[in-house]
Amino acid sequence: MVVVGAGMAAQRFVEQLMQRAGDDVRVTVIGDEGRRPYDRTRLRELFLGGSADDLPLPFDAFEDDRVELVVDDRVLHIDRRAKTVRTRSRRLHRYDTLVLATGASAGRVAVEGAGLPGCFSYRTVEDAEALRAFVGARASELERDLRGVVVGGGPIGLEAAGALQAIGVDATVVQYADRLMEAQLDGTAGSIVKRHLQARGIAVRTGTRVTRLDPDESGVVTAIEFQDGSFQRVDVVVFTVGLRARDELARNAGIAVHPYGGIVIDDACRTSDPAVLAIGEVASLDGRRFGLVAPAREMADVAVRRILGHEARFAGFDESAAITLAGVDVASFGDALARTPDAVDVLYADPVAGVYRKLVLAGDAHTLLGGILVGDASAYPALHTLVGARLEADPSSYVLPSRG
Ligand SMILES: Cc1cc2nc3c(=O)[nH]c(=O)nc-3n(C[C@H](O)[C@H](O)[C@H](O)COP(=O)(O)OP(=O)(O)OC[C@H]3O[C@@H](n4cnc5c(N)ncnc54)[C@H](O)[C@@H]3O)c2cc1C
Repeated sequence: MVVVGAGMAAQRFVEQLMQRAGDDVRVTVIGDEGRRPYDRTRLRELFLGGSADDLPLPFDAFEDDRVELVVDDRVLHIDRRAKTVRTRSRRLHRYDTLVLATGASAGRVAVEGAGLPGCFSYRTVEDAEALRAFVGARASELERDLRGVVVGGGPIGLEAAGALQAIGVDATVVQYADRLMEAQLDGTAGSIVKRHLQARGIAVRTGTRVTRLDPDESGVVTAIEFQDGSFQRVDVVVFTVGLRARDELARNAGIAVHPYGGIVIDDACRTSDPAVLAIGEVASLDGRRFGLVAPAREMADVAVRRILGHEARFAGFDESAAITLAGVDVASFGDALARTPDAVDVLYADPVAGVYRKLVLAGDAHTLLGGILVGDASAYPALHTLVGARLEADPSSYVLPSRG
């Protein structure tokens, strides 16, 4: 077997395969980052004094004799007839089964100046190290704290803003949508998260589109212009929008990809070529991609069981997540935005205390469909498991603050 990509889905795949497969399995994992698989979700630790060595995922499975890990090499071509992949270092690897686990790449908005020095993505250890080094050098050069803009107000944008602040940058989040985390939060929750960030000294501009970035005389970014014609001085810009599935290998090999990106898979993680599977953020099931660790791990498990001849299905995954962003606990699960016809909300909002709890119920007013928690997400694990079930207690008892 050959696995392309040595990220979080690949790590889980190898771990599960080594636990379940016999001695006759050989797997080569090829990754283009210059290091072994690491926990991308903890990238912010590099801004809190941590190093890349503090982010490893369990590595035991890669030390198995049946596994070869190749890092710092990129697969450039798949020859489906010969069943080989060719890498940048011109090595050929043969496969019986090919697993594509190439993830996604952090894009940049297509505006003038987006490639200037001082503009960064926020996806890999290399991105984080380059950003940290730039901020250190530029702040010394200018002899002052830097002004930073994060383009994108989704979870990763808010995390990047917290990271910038942790290294002394005065951060502003610029979001095109009318609220922060528009895929996970409703308007009230978005505005409570915004208040939390502002209270921590992070500025937020919603409903704002970036139109241009200007360089100073040395070519480094110095100003950002918005659609309304206003502009802001800036020393460092982090893009967290425009995430794209890294599906180019599959596309070039004639494997079906979705028009909006992502390698088309069925519920067994099979692509349009029966010898090729796709797992993780690069995969698209029924036109949906999944940008979280839990579904990537689930797909890896399904792929392993299928390869070993067992029954297993990936049934899709809601975008449920509980995260702490720039110090704020936020959870969003199930049908958080109440898209189900006849859904009803039961909610408690205290913008002053920064607390918001909402349950979305089916038309029967008892079956839990989803919810949003801001400020205190401790009820998330219990509530998440109740999605689809009839709540035993009065729904309001789950959201109202306990008395006394
Ligand atoms: C800052 C940040 C915070 C996050 N926080 C959370 C969180 O709190 N909770 C959560 O659930 N999710 C979070 N995520 C999302 C999560 O990290 C991803 O969903 C997960 O990493 C997807 O795993 P993957 O293996 O599909 O992709 P990746 O982890 O991106 O791995 C893909 C790997 O394949 C490599 N690759 C691509 N093409 C090739 C090629 N041709 N040849 C060789 N190698 C190749 C890539 O370089 C990469 O190393 C976060 C992401 C980021 C960036």
